[in-house]
Amino acid sequence: MEYFLTEEQQMIKDLARKIAEEKILPKRAEYDENETFPHDIVKILADSDLFGIFELCLVIEELSRICGGIALSYAGTALGTFPIVLFGNEEQKKKYLPPIAKGEKLAAFAVTEPEAGSDITTLNTTARKEGDYYILNGTKQWITNGGEAEIYVVIASTDKTKGARGSTAFILEKGWDGFEFGKKEKKLGIRASATRELVFTNCKVPKENVLGREGMGFLITIKNFDTSRPGVAAQALGIAEGAYEAALEYSHQRKQFGQPISSFQAIQHMLADMATQIEAARLLIYQTAKTIDSGAKNYSKESAMCKLFASDVAMKVTTDAIQIFGGYGYMKDYPVEKMFRDAKITQIYEGTNQIQRNVIAIELIKELARKKK
Ligand SMILES: Cc1cc2nc3c(=O)[nH]c(=O)nc-3n(C[C@H](O)[C@H](O)[C@H](O)COP(=O)(O)OP(=O)(O)OC[C@H]3O[C@@H](n4cnc5c(N)ncnc54)[C@H](O)[C@@H]3O)c2cc1C
Repeated sequence: MEYFLTEEQQMIKDLARKIAEEKILPKRAEYDENETFPHDIVKILADSDLFGIFELCLVIEELSRICGGIALSYAGTALGTFPIVLFGNEEQKKKYLPPIAKGEKLAAFAVTEPEAGSDITTLNTTARKEGDYYILNGTKQWITNGGEAEIYVVIASTDKTKGARGSTAFILEKGWDGFEFGKKEKKLGIRASATRELVFTNCKVPKENVLGREGMGFLITIKNFDTSRPGVAAQALGIAEGAYEAALEYSHQRKQFGQPISSFQAIQHMLADMATQIEAARLLIYQTAKTIDSGAKNYSKESAMCKLFASDVAMKVTTDAIQIFGGYGYMKDYPVEKMFRDAKITQIYEGTNQIQRNVIAIELIKELARKKK
Protein backbone atom coordinates (compact mmCIF):
# COMPACT_ATOMS: atom_id res chain seq x y z
CA MET A 1 0.00 0.00 0.00
CA GLU A 2 1.18 3.54 -0.77
CA TYR A 3 1.46 5.67 2.37
CA PHE A 4 2.63 8.85 0.67
CA LEU A 5 5.62 9.35 2.94
CA THR A 6 7.86 12.27 2.02
CA GLU A 7 11.28 11.49 0.57
CA GLU A 8 12.86 12.36 3.91
CA GLN A 9 10.46 10.16 5.86
CA GLN A 10 11.16 7.23 3.54
CA MET A 11 14.92 7.78 3.99
CA ILE A 12 14.55 7.74 7.78
CA LYS A 13 12.42 4.58 7.64
CA ASP A 14 14.95 2.89 5.34
CA LEU A 15 17.83 3.87 7.62
CA ALA A 16 16.03 2.48 10.68
CA ARG A 17 15.32 -0.77 8.79
CA LYS A 18 18.97 -1.09 7.76
CA ILE A 19 20.16 -0.59 11.35
CA ALA A 20 17.57 -3.05 12.63
CA GLU A 21 18.48 -5.74 10.12
CA GLU A 22 22.24 -5.31 10.22
CA LYS A 23 22.87 -4.44 13.87
CA ILE A 24 19.89 -5.58 15.95
CA LEU A 25 18.96 -8.86 14.26
CA PRO A 26 22.23 -10.65 15.12
CA LYS A 27 21.87 -9.66 18.79
CA ARG A 28 18.16 -9.77 19.59
CA ALA A 29 18.00 -13.35 20.89
CA GLU A 30 21.12 -12.93 23.05
CA TYR A 31 20.00 -9.57 24.49
CA ASP A 32 16.56 -11.03 25.21
CA GLU A 33 17.99 -14.12 26.89
CA ASN A 34 20.54 -12.21 28.99
CA GLU A 35 18.38 -9.11 29.60
CA THR A 36 21.14 -6.94 28.16
CA PHE A 37 20.47 -3.23 27.84
CA PRO A 38 21.39 -2.29 24.23
CA HIS A 39 23.98 0.45 24.87
CA ASP A 40 25.72 -0.35 21.58
CA ILE A 41 22.52 -0.01 19.56
CA VAL A 42 21.62 3.25 21.32
CA LYS A 43 25.03 4.56 20.26
CA ILE A 44 24.41 3.52 16.64
CA LEU A 45 20.98 5.21 16.66
CA ALA A 46 22.56 8.33 18.17
CA ASP A 47 25.39 8.39 15.61
CA SER A 48 22.75 8.07 12.87
CA ASP A 49 20.94 11.17 14.25
CA LEU A 50 17.75 9.23 14.92
CA PHE A 51 17.14 10.72 18.39
CA GLY A 52 16.58 14.27 17.15
CA ILE A 53 13.78 13.67 14.66
CA PHE A 54 9.98 13.82 14.57
CA GLU A 55 9.44 10.61 12.58
CA LEU A 56 9.39 8.53 15.75
CA CYS A 57 6.65 6.14 14.70
CA LEU A 58 8.48 5.17 11.52
CA VAL A 59 11.69 4.44 13.43
CA ILE A 60 9.94 2.57 16.26
CA GLU A 61 8.03 0.45 13.73
CA GLU A 62 11.21 -0.57 11.92
CA LEU A 63 13.21 -1.31 15.08
CA SER A 64 10.30 -3.28 16.57
CA ARG A 65 9.94 -5.35 13.40
CA ILE A 66 13.22 -6.90 14.49
CA CYS A 67 13.13 -6.43 18.29
CA GLY A 68 10.37 -4.80 20.34
CA GLY A 69 12.58 -4.77 23.44
CA ILE A 70 15.55 -2.99 21.92
CA ALA A 71 13.15 -0.56 20.21
CA LEU A 72 11.82 0.40 23.64
CA SER A 73 15.09 1.92 24.84
CA TYR A 74 14.56 4.41 21.99
CA ALA A 75 10.78 4.83 22.41
CA GLY A 76 11.03 5.17 26.22
CA THR A 77 13.23 8.21 25.74
CA ALA A 78 10.46 9.86 23.73
CA LEU A 79 8.05 9.26 26.65
CA GLY A 80 10.45 11.11 28.95
CA THR A 81 11.04 13.90 26.42
CA PHE A 82 7.54 14.89 25.27
CA PRO A 83 6.67 16.55 28.63
CA ILE A 84 9.72 18.82 28.28
CA VAL A 85 8.94 19.56 24.62
CA LEU A 86 5.26 20.27 25.38
CA PHE A 87 5.48 21.99 28.77
CA GLY A 88 9.10 23.00 29.35
CA ASN A 89 10.10 26.66 29.55
CA GLU A 90 12.90 27.99 27.34
CA GLU A 91 15.60 27.37 29.95
CA GLN A 92 14.47 23.81 30.61
CA LYS A 93 14.33 23.09 26.88
CA LYS A 94 17.78 24.60 26.30
CA LYS A 95 19.29 22.61 29.13
CA TYR A 96 17.67 19.21 28.67
CA LEU A 97 16.66 18.73 25.03
CA PRO A 98 19.96 19.07 23.10
CA PRO A 99 21.73 16.10 24.78
CA ILE A 100 18.60 13.97 24.30
CA ALA A 101 18.33 14.99 20.64
CA LYS A 102 21.98 14.01 20.13
CA GLY A 103 21.36 10.65 21.81
CA GLU A 104 23.97 11.46 24.47
CA LYS A 105 21.40 11.13 27.25
CA LEU A 106 18.33 8.91 27.50
CA ALA A 107 15.14 10.02 29.22
CA ALA A 108 12.37 8.33 31.21
CA PHE A 109 8.92 9.16 32.52
CA ALA A 110 7.73 8.05 35.95
CA VAL A 111 4.18 8.16 37.19
CA THR A 112 3.37 4.52 38.16
CA GLU A 113 3.64 3.41 41.78
CA PRO A 114 2.85 0.14 43.56
CA GLU A 115 -0.61 1.49 44.50
CA ALA A 116 -1.13 3.75 41.47
CA GLY A 117 -1.47 2.08 38.07
CA SER A 118 -4.49 2.94 35.94
CA ASP A 119 -5.60 5.44 38.58
CA ILE A 120 -2.92 8.09 38.87
CA THR A 121 -5.02 10.64 40.71
CA THR A 122 -3.75 9.48 44.11
CA LEU A 123 0.03 9.26 44.31
CA ASN A 124 2.04 8.31 47.37
CA THR A 125 5.25 9.95 46.13
CA THR A 126 5.19 13.40 47.71
CA ALA A 127 6.92 16.68 46.92
CA ARG A 128 7.00 19.16 49.80
CA LYS A 129 8.01 22.74 49.08
CA GLU A 130 10.84 24.09 51.25
CA GLY A 131 12.18 27.48 50.18
CA ASP A 132 13.63 27.22 46.68
CA TYR A 133 13.36 23.42 46.61
CA TYR A 134 10.85 20.60 46.62
CA ILE A 135 11.68 17.57 48.77
CA LEU A 136 10.65 14.31 47.07
CA ASN A 137 9.92 11.08 48.94
CA GLY A 138 8.46 7.83 47.62
CA THR A 139 8.90 5.03 45.10
CA LYS A 140 8.07 4.81 41.41
CA GLN A 141 7.62 1.35 39.94
CA TRP A 142 8.28 -0.30 36.53
CA ILE A 143 10.00 2.68 34.95
CA THR A 144 11.24 2.04 31.43
CA ASN A 145 14.89 3.10 30.99
CA GLY A 146 15.12 3.23 34.81
CA GLY A 147 18.78 3.36 35.82
CA GLU A 148 19.90 3.83 32.19
CA ALA A 149 18.38 7.25 31.55
CA GLU A 150 20.06 10.45 32.75
CA ILE A 151 16.93 12.62 32.69
CA TYR A 152 13.65 11.75 34.45
CA VAL A 153 10.26 13.42 34.42
CA VAL A 154 8.65 12.41 37.71
CA ILE A 155 5.07 13.05 38.80
CA ALA A 156 4.63 13.58 42.55
CA SER A 157 1.81 14.67 44.82
CA THR A 158 2.09 18.28 46.01
CA ASP A 159 -1.36 18.37 47.61
CA LYS A 160 -3.20 15.14 48.35
CA THR A 161 -6.48 16.93 49.06
CA LYS A 162 -6.71 18.16 45.45
CA GLY A 163 -6.87 14.76 43.66
CA ALA A 164 -6.06 15.07 39.95
CA ARG A 165 -5.09 18.73 40.44
CA GLY A 166 -2.76 17.90 43.32
CA SER A 167 0.21 16.46 41.45
CA THR A 168 3.19 18.19 39.86
CA ALA A 169 5.76 17.20 37.22
CA PHE A 170 9.49 17.59 37.99
CA ILE A 171 12.63 17.11 35.92
CA LEU A 172 15.24 15.12 37.83
CA GLU A 173 18.77 14.10 36.94
CA LYS A 174 20.42 10.77 37.65
CA GLY A 175 22.98 11.06 40.42
CA TRP A 176 21.18 13.65 42.54
CA ASP A 177 21.33 13.04 46.30
CA GLY A 178 18.35 11.06 47.51
CA PHE A 179 17.55 9.63 44.05
CA GLU A 180 18.40 5.94 43.80
CA PHE A 181 17.41 2.93 41.73
CA GLY A 182 15.69 -0.06 43.29
CA LYS A 183 14.54 -3.43 42.00
CA LYS A 184 15.28 -4.29 38.36
CA GLU A 185 12.37 -6.34 36.98
CA LYS A 186 12.62 -9.72 35.27
CA LYS A 187 9.99 -9.78 32.56
CA LEU A 188 7.99 -11.99 30.19
CA GLY A 189 9.01 -9.96 27.13
CA ILE A 190 10.84 -6.80 26.03
CA ARG A 191 13.67 -8.18 28.13
CA ALA A 192 16.40 -6.01 26.58
CA SER A 193 14.55 -2.99 27.99
CA ALA A 194 15.38 -1.89 31.53
CA THR A 195 12.36 -1.68 33.86
CA ARG A 196 13.25 -0.44 37.30
CA GLU A 197 12.15 1.20 40.53
CA LEU A 198 13.07 4.80 41.31
CA VAL A 199 13.45 5.54 45.02
CA PHE A 200 13.37 9.08 46.41
CA THR A 201 14.55 9.79 49.95
CA ASN A 202 14.46 13.48 50.81
CA CYS A 203 15.59 14.24 47.25
CA LYS A 204 16.03 18.02 46.80
CA VAL A 205 14.69 19.28 43.47
CA PRO A 206 15.20 22.97 42.61
CA LYS A 207 11.93 24.82 41.98
CA GLU A 208 13.26 25.72 38.50
CA ASN A 209 12.74 22.05 37.66
CA VAL A 210 8.97 22.14 37.97
CA LEU A 211 7.44 21.48 34.55
CA GLY A 212 4.56 23.79 33.75
CA ARG A 213 3.10 24.86 37.08
CA GLU A 214 2.40 23.20 40.41
CA GLY A 215 -0.78 21.12 40.08
CA MET A 216 -0.27 20.32 36.38
CA GLY A 217 1.16 16.82 36.88
CA PHE A 218 -2.00 14.95 35.89
CA LEU A 219 -2.61 17.11 32.82
CA ILE A 220 1.02 16.73 31.72
CA THR A 221 0.77 12.94 32.13
CA ILE A 222 -2.43 12.74 30.05
CA LYS A 223 -1.01 14.94 27.29
CA ASN A 224 2.22 12.94 27.35
CA PHE A 225 0.34 9.66 26.89
CA ASP A 226 -1.84 11.16 24.15
CA THR A 227 1.35 12.05 22.29
CA SER A 228 3.27 8.85 22.99
CA ARG A 229 0.54 6.23 22.45
CA PRO A 230 0.98 6.19 18.66
CA GLY A 231 4.59 5.19 19.48
CA VAL A 232 3.39 2.16 21.47
CA ALA A 233 1.08 1.42 18.57
CA ALA A 234 4.06 1.62 16.19
CA GLN A 235 5.95 -0.79 18.44
CA ALA A 236 2.99 -3.20 18.26
CA LEU A 237 2.78 -2.73 14.50
CA GLY A 238 6.47 -3.50 14.02
CA ILE A 239 6.25 -6.63 16.18
CA ALA A 240 3.22 -7.79 14.17
CA GLU A 241 5.01 -7.17 10.88
CA GLY A 242 8.05 -9.15 11.99
CA ALA A 243 5.88 -12.08 13.05
CA TYR A 244 3.79 -12.00 9.89
CA GLU A 245 6.82 -11.92 7.59
CA ALA A 246 8.44 -14.82 9.45
CA ALA A 247 5.22 -16.85 9.25
CA LEU A 248 4.73 -16.13 5.54
CA GLU A 249 8.28 -17.21 4.75
CA TYR A 250 8.00 -20.35 6.91
CA SER A 251 4.67 -21.33 5.34
CA HIS A 252 6.46 -21.43 2.01
CA GLN A 253 9.26 -23.68 3.23
CA ARG A 254 7.51 -26.09 5.57
CA LYS A 255 6.12 -29.14 3.79
CA GLN A 256 3.46 -31.49 5.17
CA PHE A 257 1.37 -33.98 3.25
CA GLY A 258 3.83 -33.48 0.38
CA GLN A 259 3.15 -29.79 -0.13
CA PRO A 260 4.08 -26.42 1.40
CA ILE A 261 1.71 -25.58 4.24
CA SER A 262 1.01 -22.27 2.42
CA SER A 263 -1.09 -24.31 -0.02
CA PHE A 264 -3.63 -25.07 2.74
CA GLN A 265 -6.52 -22.66 2.80
CA ALA A 266 -6.53 -22.62 6.62
CA ILE A 267 -2.99 -21.19 6.58
CA GLN A 268 -3.74 -18.83 3.69
CA HIS A 269 -6.68 -17.34 5.55
CA MET A 270 -4.60 -16.75 8.65
CA LEU A 271 -1.97 -14.98 6.51
CA ALA A 272 -4.64 -12.92 4.75
CA ASP A 273 -6.12 -11.79 8.08
CA MET A 274 -2.68 -10.94 9.46
CA ALA A 275 -1.75 -8.83 6.43
CA THR A 276 -5.11 -7.02 6.45
CA GLN A 277 -4.94 -6.22 10.15
CA ILE A 278 -1.39 -4.92 9.78
CA GLU A 279 -2.36 -2.58 6.92
CA ALA A 280 -5.34 -1.27 8.91
CA ALA A 281 -3.18 -0.65 11.99
CA ARG A 282 -0.54 1.12 9.93
CA LEU A 283 -3.09 3.42 8.30
CA LEU A 284 -4.54 4.39 11.69
CA ILE A 285 -1.10 5.06 13.15
CA TYR A 286 0.31 7.05 10.21
CA GLN A 287 -2.86 9.13 9.96
CA THR A 288 -2.80 9.89 13.70
CA ALA A 289 0.90 10.78 13.58
CA LYS A 290 0.13 13.17 10.70
CA THR A 291 -2.74 14.67 12.72
CA ILE A 292 -0.42 15.29 15.68
CA ASP A 293 2.36 16.70 13.46
CA SER A 294 -0.13 19.06 11.82
CA GLY A 295 -0.55 20.83 15.16
CA ALA A 296 -3.95 19.43 16.17
CA LYS A 297 -4.86 20.34 19.76
CA ASN A 298 -6.85 17.31 20.87
CA TYR A 299 -5.88 13.86 19.64
CA SER A 300 -6.76 11.75 22.70
CA LYS A 301 -9.32 9.64 20.84
CA GLU A 302 -7.17 8.90 17.79
CA SER A 303 -4.10 8.10 19.92
CA ALA A 304 -6.07 5.72 22.12
CA MET A 305 -7.60 4.07 19.04
CA CYS A 306 -4.13 3.52 17.57
CA LYS A 307 -2.79 1.85 20.66
CA LEU A 308 -5.92 -0.21 21.27
CA PHE A 309 -6.15 -1.48 17.71
CA ALA A 310 -2.47 -2.02 16.96
CA SER A 311 -1.73 -3.81 20.23
CA ASP A 312 -4.68 -6.17 19.75
CA VAL A 313 -3.44 -6.79 16.20
CA ALA A 314 0.06 -7.52 17.53
CA MET A 315 -1.29 -10.06 20.01
CA LYS A 316 -3.49 -11.77 17.39
CA VAL A 317 -0.82 -11.78 14.67
CA THR A 318 1.94 -13.11 16.92
CA THR A 319 -0.42 -15.82 18.25
CA ASP A 320 -1.31 -16.87 14.70
CA ALA A 321 2.34 -16.74 13.67
CA ILE A 322 3.15 -19.34 16.32
CA GLN A 323 0.19 -21.40 15.04
CA ILE A 324 1.60 -21.32 11.51
CA PHE A 325 5.01 -22.41 12.78
CA GLY A 326 3.36 -25.23 14.76
CA GLY A 327 5.64 -26.72 17.44
CA TYR A 328 8.69 -24.96 16.00
CA GLY A 329 7.00 -21.65 16.77
CA TYR A 330 7.01 -22.59 20.44
CA MET A 331 10.78 -23.04 20.44
CA LYS A 332 13.40 -20.36 20.95
CA ASP A 333 15.16 -21.40 17.73
CA TYR A 334 12.60 -19.28 15.87
CA PRO A 335 11.81 -15.62 16.53
CA VAL A 336 8.01 -15.79 16.83
CA GLU A 337 7.83 -16.93 20.46
CA LYS A 338 9.81 -13.81 21.43
CA MET A 339 7.55 -11.60 19.32
CA PHE A 340 4.51 -13.12 21.07
CA ARG A 341 6.09 -12.36 24.48
CA ASP A 342 7.06 -8.83 23.38
CA ALA A 343 3.60 -8.07 21.96
CA LYS A 344 1.72 -8.54 25.25
CA ILE A 345 3.07 -5.43 26.96
CA THR A 346 1.65 -3.17 24.24
CA GLN A 347 -1.86 -4.01 25.55
CA ILE A 348 -0.81 -2.98 29.06
CA TYR A 349 1.52 -0.01 29.36
CA GLU A 350 0.76 3.67 28.79
CA GLY A 351 -2.75 2.73 29.85
CA THR A 352 -4.24 -0.74 29.50
CA ASN A 353 -6.56 -1.38 26.58
CA GLN A 354 -9.51 -1.21 28.98
CA ILE A 355 -8.39 2.34 29.81
CA GLN A 356 -7.98 3.13 26.06
CA ARG A 357 -11.63 2.14 25.56
CA ASN A 358 -12.60 4.43 28.45
CA VAL A 359 -10.66 7.31 26.84
CA ILE A 360 -12.27 6.72 23.45
CA ALA A 361 -15.76 6.49 24.95
CA ILE A 362 -15.30 9.72 26.96
CA GLU A 363 -14.22 11.55 23.80
CA LEU A 364 -17.19 10.15 21.84
CA ILE A 365 -19.60 11.35 24.52
CA LYS A 366 -17.92 14.79 24.59
CA GLU A 367 -18.23 15.00 20.80
CA LEU A 368 -21.94 14.21 21.01
CA ALA A 369 -22.46 16.82 23.73
CA ARG A 370 -20.69 19.44 21.56
CA LYS A 371 -22.90 18.57 18.58
CA LYS A 372 -26.06 18.97 20.69
CA LYS A 373 -25.11 22.44 21.94
C1 LIG B 1 7.22 -3.42 31.34
C2 LIG B 1 6.51 -2.23 31.86
C3 LIG B 1 7.03 -0.96 31.61
C4 LIG B 1 6.39 0.17 32.13
N1 LIG B 1 6.95 1.41 31.94
C5 LIG B 1 6.42 2.48 32.61
C6 LIG B 1 7.09 3.75 32.58
O1 LIG B 1 8.10 3.94 31.89
N2 LIG B 1 6.57 4.76 33.32
C7 LIG B 1 5.45 4.62 34.08
O2 LIG B 1 5.06 5.56 34.75
N3 LIG B 1 4.79 3.42 34.11
C8 LIG B 1 5.25 2.36 33.41
N4 LIG B 1 4.60 1.14 33.45
C9 LIG B 1 3.34 1.02 34.18
C10 LIG B 1 2.12 0.83 33.29
O3 LIG B 1 1.80 2.01 32.62
C11 LIG B 1 0.99 0.27 34.17
O4 LIG B 1 1.31 -1.08 34.42
C12 LIG B 1 -0.37 0.37 33.52
O5 LIG B 1 -0.79 1.69 33.40
C13 LIG B 1 -1.45 -0.41 34.27
O6 LIG B 1 -1.39 -0.24 35.65
P1 LIG B 1 -1.36 -1.53 36.60
O7 LIG B 1 -0.37 -2.46 36.02
O8 LIG B 1 -1.17 -1.09 37.99
O9 LIG B 1 -2.79 -2.20 36.42
P2 LIG B 1 -4.13 -1.86 37.24
O10 LIG B 1 -4.45 -0.43 37.12
O11 LIG B 1 -4.04 -2.45 38.60
O12 LIG B 1 -5.18 -2.69 36.39
C14 LIG B 1 -5.44 -4.07 36.58
C15 LIG B 1 -6.57 -4.46 35.63
O13 LIG B 1 -7.76 -3.69 35.94
C16 LIG B 1 -8.21 -3.01 34.79
N5 LIG B 1 -8.75 -1.70 35.16
C17 LIG B 1 -8.23 -0.79 36.04
N6 LIG B 1 -9.00 0.30 36.08
C18 LIG B 1 -10.03 0.10 35.22
C19 LIG B 1 -11.15 0.88 34.81
N7 LIG B 1 -11.39 2.10 35.29
N8 LIG B 1 -11.99 0.35 33.86
C20 LIG B 1 -11.75 -0.88 33.35
N9 LIG B 1 -10.72 -1.67 33.71
C21 LIG B 1 -9.86 -1.17 34.62
C22 LIG B 1 -6.96 -2.86 33.91
O14 LIG B 1 -7.29 -2.66 32.56
C23 LIG B 1 -6.26 -4.19 34.18
O15 LIG B 1 -6.83 -5.17 33.36
C24 LIG B 1 5.20 0.01 32.89
C25 LIG B 1 4.67 -1.26 33.11
C26 LIG B 1 5.31 -2.39 32.62
C27 LIG B 1 4.72 -3.73 32.90
